Amino acid sequence: MNSSRRSFIKLLGGAAASFSILKSPDSAQATQFAGKSEAKWGMVIDLRKCIGCQACTVACSIENQIPVGKFRTIVSTYEIERYGTTHRINLPRLCNHCEKPACVQVCPTQATKKRKDGIVVVDNSVCVGCGYCIQACPYEARFINPLTRTADKCTFCLHRLEAGLYPACVETCVGEARVFGNFNDPNSKVSRLVSQYPVQVLKRAMGTGPMVFYIGLDETLSGQIKGEAVISPAGSGVEEEVV
Ligand code: SF4
Ligand code: SF4
Repeated sequence: MNSSRRSFIKLLGGAAASFSILKSPDSAQATQFAGKSEAKWGMVIDLRKCIGCQACTVACSIENQIPVGKFRTIVSTYEIERYGTTHRINLPRLCNHCEKPACVQVCPTQATKKRKDGIVVVDNSVCVGCGYCIQACPYEARFINPLTRTADKCTFCLHRLEAGLYPACVETCVGEARVFGNFNDPNSKVSRLVSQYPVQVLKRAMGTGPMVFYIGLDETLSGQIKGEAVISPAGSGVEEEVV
């Protein structure tokens, strides 16, 4: 995952999609687990509260001792022009712990697995570093760790969960934009949020069933996130035009 800080998306012409979030086809995906016995971990990110401070990015890198230049989570900043007005959106991104993870399907050694609780993990003792999962992931959520030479990505800070703690990014989020919890528990904060607000996922059309849901995500932007292709290095001035 690249540490991009800013991308520009210009939505041109009157045919641009609505900024409305009133309809949310992803809400059904978010609420389907309620009441089931096994835990189903996931995250809700309220974009209205994210200030783009990158505290989560730093906390994750320190907690998980990520090599310099690599990231398990980033916050990309987009500026969307509409009808002469510029909207700024801070978009935290991480592994979506997909219900149908493309990365699992392509792994030739079964090093990448989806646990019963929903967390997608990599067994470093089995991973051969072939990079197939990196190519398959539509979200640019994985990278080869140059120290271990194996695939690396967000684990929802599994080691912290096992100690009864929240993921480092959630613990550190100053705006409380990142909320982590069990979607099987109807009383969990994530369940209450997805019942209360329309939510969206990134790249719904890929059919991966992300377990990271966003409140306040521009529907047009959610479909246009292309991973590495659309994310430009900070200050590069690269623009992506979406017509
Ligand atoms: S976001 Fe990518 S790495 Fe994470 S589970 Fe989905 S396909 Fe796999
Ligand atoms: S810590 Fe929270 S507010 Fe800051 S960038 Fe990350 S998600 Fe946004």
